[in-house]
Amino acid sequence: MKKLSDYREIVGDKVISGIYRKARGIYGKRVLNINSTYMGGGVAEILNSLAPLLNDVGVDAGWRIIRGTEDLFNITKKFHNALQGDPINLTDIKKELYIQTNEDFSQYTHINHDCVIIHDPQPLPLISFYKKRQPWVWRCHIDLSRPNEELWDFFKGFILRYDMVIISNEKYKKKDLPIEQRIIAPVIDPLTPKNLDLSDKDISKDLKKFGVPTDKPFITQISRFDKWKDPLGVVEIFKLVKEEVDCRLVLCGSMASDDPEGIQIYEKVKEKAKSYTNNGDIILITSENNVLVNALQRRSAVVIQKSTKEGFGLTVTEALWKETPVIASNVGGIPLQIKNENNGFLFEPQDIEGFAKKAIEILNNPDLSKELGKRAKEYVRKKFLITRILSDYLDLISDMTGC
Ligand code: UDP
Repeated sequence: MKKLSDYREIVGDKVISGIYRKARGIYGKRVLNINSTYMGGGVAEILNSLAPLLNDVGVDAGWRIIRGTEDLFNITKKFHNALQGDPINLTDIKKELYIQTNEDFSQYTHINHDCVIIHDPQPLPLISFYKKRQPWVWRCHIDLSRPNEELWDFFKGFILRYDMVIISNEKYKKKDLPIEQRIIAPVIDPLTPKNLDLSDKDISKDLKKFGVPTDKPFITQISRFDKWKDPLGVVEIFKLVKEEVDCRLVLCGSMASDDPEGIQIYEKVKEKAKSYTNNGDIILITSENNVLVNALQRRSAVVIQKSTKEGFGLTVTEALWKETPVIASNVGGIPLQIKNENNGFLFEPQDIEGFAKKAIEILNNPDLSKELGKRAKEYVRKKFLITRILSDYLDLISDMTGC
């Protein structure tokens, strides 16, 4: 079972005792988290660690998943894209199915908690189907800086009922939302199989098991096959890198159950990789395996994150924690984590050549980024570990329940 005390060596006793102290005022408070998937993507990743730790320090924290059909997730994926700025054909059918799913779920999901935390858009309308007896918080992990106006207005109808909105970045604050908006940046858990230390021997063994050859250096992007993560752009970068250095590209993207577009994007990437003459050097992986992700992030010569939009980018945090050089887009939550040339490298997403040149430089001289890797790890230790979000949630629950 996950325990806060397991993190003593990583964050130090002062941080740990600070958290126990914060929990004292809210023992036994019943808090319910609701999102739409238990695996795949950053939200599930955080809740997997956060929910047990909240319980360990004395909060009664629950976690439920709203059941959705394929149709619903098709619609909510369109909503997700439109919140990040895409156009959308917002028909009544889409709205009705979305609202109906929430109403159905509310019928057999009894809520008698002291505080409810709703994650992302899928369960957002739930609030309309309960007699409100407690504070409700909407925690949005998406980049909200330029949402589609029509959809935003539809969403506001629900959001206005909430007591607080949590976002990942100052830049996502909405001026037209007369509700308290609090910034809580996402985090990683250093004690999960995805982030635990691995020996060189184990890394080699794990990579072999999943068919990743280690005879040449490789660069990696680990991300859902999603257009905002731009895997096709990563293949472009790789082509330029490969002209200078013999290496491989690994694109690893599990399929999240609430992300129906994954397979289409995956097929496109596969086609593009095929058109490339040395296509054996591009390795596509869709299996969901945390140890594999860990091994890839540790052994990669370079980790790329070429997103064109990125709510936060936990894959960046994970690679920084592992002291692997990261070259990433200067978008969304990524610049909160990477200080250019200090603990990683930032380029504008369209600057394929910039990405490629930097990757070539590192591949040719891996020692160059050793110091940078150390700084990256310390930065994550200070700002983006699970203990920090645990502390932020304790503050949130205290504020919401008036303790
Ligand atoms: N992830 C994974 N396997 C994959 C792709 C992604 O385990 O094949 C994990 C990744 O390690 C990270 C999370 O899914 O923990 C993705 O979070 P991020 O914030 O980067 O992006 P999101 O998917 O939430 O947009």
